Amino acid sequence: MPTTTAVLQSPETGAPFERATIERRDPGPHDVEIEIKHCGICHSDIHQVEGDWGSGIFPMVPGHEIVGVVASVGDEVEGFAEGDRVGVGCFVDSCGECEYCADGEEQHCTKGVVLTYNGKDYDGNPTHGGYSTRIVVKDHFVVHVPDEIELDVAAPLLCAGITTYSPLKRWGAGEGKRVAIVGMGGLGHVAVQIAKAMGAEVTVLSQTTSKEEDGRRFGADAYYATEDRETFRKLRGSFDLILNTVSANLPIDRYLSTLRVGGAMVNVGAPSEPDTYHAFSLIGGRRSLAGSSVGGLPETQEMLDFCAEHGVEPQIERVTVDEVDGAYERIADSSVRYRCVIDIASFG
Ligand code: NAP
Ligand code: ZN
Repeated sequence: MPTTTAVLQSPETGAPFERATIERRDPGPHDVEIEIKHCGICHSDIHQVEGDWGSGIFPMVPGHEIVGVVASVGDEVEGFAEGDRVGVGCFVDSCGECEYCADGEEQHCTKGVVLTYNGKDYDGNPTHGGYSTRIVVKDHFVVHVPDEIELDVAAPLLCAGITTYSPLKRWGAGEGKRVAIVGMGGLGHVAVQIAKAMGAEVTVLSQTTSKEEDGRRFGADAYYATEDRETFRKLRGSFDLILNTVSANLPIDRYLSTLRVGGAMVNVGAPSEPDTYHAFSLIGGRRSLAGSSVGGLPETQEMLDFCAEHGVEPQIERVTVDEVDGAYERIADSSVRYRCVIDIASFG
């Protein structure tokens, strides 16, 4: 018998959240049933509820920064047992057979990765995310949360953590590399800590210097306000790597000018409108402009273990289920410090 699960859902774009119930599938032999304890609120949740990336599937239960405790496991599940502290990120299934799945890069599955919410399972049923009390997920898509990290603090790592760890590692953030993190929000404040833990020299490029003290506490060696045009003049030719975590459009050419010859700007921020850049901003300095999507399952576990080892910890604000609408407004005006995490116990 499928079990009823309490959820917080968006009935349609622009409407306030409402409490509801859904049926989750019965756990199959390879499924892990999770009692959700906390779920982070990612700016992507806002983009999807607001239809920034195209129309969504409604009613929508967002949430892809899920942490909880295993309630039960299917007969064929290995590596997870009742009571384990676990997490689920941005996807819950993939074909498991294509070259990308074979490489542990499920996000690039050629059949199409199944998103944790606002997606469809391969059986055609809509997926529902972590703003809920319970979820049933195929074991391959569940990761272990290390004991060193409190569950609520770990939640943002399931998206913000892996989305920044993956490109920082791929583009070689480390000793002797000068790395700029653009935007110090949910993703950005984790990126600063990870880049520092990897050994890079880290600069934050934020709209203002209002969060400078926090940025330096997270490990930034330098901090600049992008509202000050002098910043771009001063920083010309400075960075090996820029990681752009901004949810809005940016004057890309200005940022490219701060790269050294051969440097790369990697976008993970996903605004709804296209960005533009001038070809000579790349040609002149043999620069690259790239993008990166979350990260695969093996790398997600690696990232969690890395964060536990290096003391990388998101700074969170816990919110109740009834405070989510307000949290969305505060995220949109960049006043959250630095990630809202829903306390699932507040479903009551
Ligand atoms: P967030 O917490 O809202 O942080 C975004 C930060 O961007 C803000 O704190 C602010 O930093 C800066 N910002 C906001 N509006 C700006 C503007 N108009 N001009 C310049 N800077 C601005 O969002 P998030 O949860 O970190 O997500 C950031 C983006 O990454 C979103 O677009 C999200 O959808 C995307 N994302 C992508 C992936 C992926 O796989 N590629 C995964 C997760 C999220 P300052 O105040 O420091 O300037
Ligand atoms: Zn996210």
